[in-house]
Amino acid sequence: MKTLVLNSGSSSIKYSLFEMDDQSVLAAGVIESIGGSHSLHRYKIGSDSAISQTLALADHAQGLHTLFSGLQHNAILQDAAELFCIGHRVVHGGELFRQPVIIDSRVTEKISELSALAPLHNPANVQGIQQALNEFGSVPQVAVFDTAFHQTLPQHAYHYALPRSWYDDFAIRRYGFHGTSHYYVAKKAAEHLARPLAELNLITLHLGNGCSITAIENGKSVDTSMGMTPMEGLMMGTRCGDIDPALSFYVERIAGLSSAEIEQLLNRSSGLKGVCGENDMRAVHRLAESGDQQAQLALDMFAYRIKKYLGAYFAVLGKVDAIVFTGGIGENDSWLRAQCCANLAALGIAIDEEKNTSARAECLDISARQQAVAVLVIRTNEELEIALQSVDCVLNGGS
Ligand code: AMP
Repeated sequence: MKTLVLNSGSSSIKYSLFEMDDQSVLAAGVIESIGGSHSLHRYKIGSDSAISQTLALADHAQGLHTLFSGLQHNAILQDAAELFCIGHRVVHGGELFRQPVIIDSRVTEKISELSALAPLHNPANVQGIQQALNEFGSVPQVAVFDTAFHQTLPQHAYHYALPRSWYDDFAIRRYGFHGTSHYYVAKKAAEHLARPLAELNLITLHLGNGCSITAIENGKSVDTSMGMTPMEGLMMGTRCGDIDPALSFYVERIAGLSSAEIEQLLNRSSGLKGVCGENDMRAVHRLAESGDQQAQLALDMFAYRIKKYLGAYFAVLGKVDAIVFTGGIGENDSWLRAQCCANLAALGIAIDEEKNTSARAECLDISARQQAVAVLVIRTNEELEIALQSVDCVLNGGS
């Protein structure tokens, strides 16, 4: 049973083709700079080494065509009819989409309407969906939403203390993101602990270019650090995370910046990059090791803010069975994990330094012995989770 997962950005398409019988990746790739004369297609067939092609791809339709021809050329997929379904990553499902849904024209229209809440992402997702419907019209297609897992947040967690009419009229509330990743690693944690997810309280930390932390009670998301947009919460590669909202009015006055300029600066020039000039965590570490004090400050701030949220979510949950680190930073950065968990023995959290620095695995338990809280490092796999949810949705007739 073959399933294609598509993640369409404004000028890119990321894809993975799975054989669902054994969950193996038949092919995976990314097409970037669509719309230019130097579009780049990088892909891997199974475990072969990566292939790169430079092409001129005018639009997503040509991108999908290239993707499909590549799969045909490498004898991975001869005919679209071999696909059981296609799963699309969609960033914002608002309050409407609480679970995956089979795509039809009404669904596409609704995702498009939600573009006001995610202007950078939903229009690109819709574009990818429309082109995929044109290219592979006979294959069932499913939308899987980044926000869906957090639709279980209680009202007291998702409301902002703002005029009620802002929620009623403009849908302003906290939504949360990275839901597919938080849910995937939560399931894997339950497998590792050999207990049903529905009986577990977890704190999951997705630390990549974007960062978020989620409190999971009895298997359900009850709070998460990203809010109405992915800017709220933890410090990130280029996003500021939590700030005093009044500071943007101050900068507007004192520096004469427009709100669009401030938004851009908070999104693209803040976080690690704002503090030390680098947004890639490996580069930040290299700078800090060379004695750069701003880089060390960026690392300390990054870890401190995670620790504050850990404490807050501990209080939210009361009892925590496991903390799960995932994402490029969470999975690889043993220094950061140690910082975040330092001096938390009173909460039942302590890690074993040797386990913490041991080689990567799908799931690594780095807790010190006899601690109440397991500390796990789990490799996320959002593409596989989208494929699994898409197949499930099609088998269950779209619900
Ligand atoms: P992601 O968005 O999940 O791909 O994660 C990207 C982030 O992971 C970037 O900040 C990378 O620098 C970071 N990252 C990848 N490998 C490592 C590593 N070995 N140590 C620290 N950070 C890493």
